[in-house]
Amino acid sequence: MSSQQKSGAGSEAREAREARDSSWPNVLFHIHVHLAALYGVFLIITEAYYSTTLYAIFMVMLASLAVNTGAHRLWAHGSYKASFGLRVALMLAQTTVGQCSIYDWVLDHRIHHKHFGTEKDPYNHNRGFFFAHMGSRMLTKQAGYDDLAKEIDMSDLEEDKVVMFQKRYFWVLMPIVALLLPINFPVEYWGESILVSVYVAGFFRYCLALHMSWLVNSAILIWGLDPKARSSSDSNLVFIVTRTHWPHYHYMLPWDYQTGEFGTYGTGCSTAWIRVYCAAGWASELKTMDSAAVKEALTLAVDTGKPLVECLNKVGLEHASRIPDSHVLEFEKYK
Ligand SMILES: [Zn+2]
Repeated sequence: MSSQQKSGAGSEAREAREARDSSWPNVLFHIHVHLAALYGVFLIITEAYYSTTLYAIFMVMLASLAVNTGAHRLWAHGSYKASFGLRVALMLAQTTVGQCSIYDWVLDHRIHHKHFGTEKDPYNHNRGFFFAHMGSRMLTKQAGYDDLAKEIDMSDLEEDKVVMFQKRYFWVLMPIVALLLPINFPVEYWGESILVSVYVAGFFRYCLALHMSWLVNSAILIWGLDPKARSSSDSNLVFIVTRTHWPHYHYMLPWDYQTGEFGTYGTGCSTAWIRVYCAAGWASELKTMDSAAVKEALTLAVDTGKPLVECLNKVGLEHASRIPDSHVLEFEKYK
């Protein structure tokens, strides 16, 4: 690989690695959760009702939907507007993940986008998959985290009563919504044993939901550009030329609701659900990029010499405001 290929994000990668101490309570917590989840797998094979296993998987899918369409695209990036009812439903479903409040999730994710691929990025992918996926969660926060947090504009979330309600009562809501109710459900409705319910509907589901949530930040290392060919996501045109590598595209235009966290564009499960929300009248003002806007942005970048990302965002947002909500029913045109 030539030194030029390592430019862009690579130059950030070369900055000195910041030493972060292990957070031993977090390390021990995650070891216990994973061992308990493994025992949950053993119980699935040997003892659990099929309905308990299917229920646990359903709850993981629900949590994943809430993280991807709610915490990520709705609240972190404002990809669309949601009705009060949909926001309450997404907030409750996100609470079942048992990870953290929407507010804290969004704050970390905005820091992640703002300082993408640097030591200030909480999930710096240049440190490898394990670090981006879960290793960083077993370390103390990076130096100057509070200052980084202060630089992030969170006023939109602070105006959202649903988000602030969850933030305020998180430690009351979470044990009830993420632990007591989901574990009680199989015991109450089909007579599952408490032991199986605790380990399958509890630890196994919780562990899987955590991994689904963590993938939002580590997916770029699975479905993004080949690491050997990696170049700065804000200086390449690969997404336009090849219509692929969508995790990288997400870091260029994070507000496009059609960007799949898991390497898709326009066809991902979360994107489909946002279309359903809109068709049902629960979501509106879906922001996306059409081909005309891409062409206009390219022309603008060439004419003015401004960075492509700046031009894409400027022109894209203007176009997005003119795309009718009914576009969700014209799938081919806006894919
Ligand atoms: Zn994002």
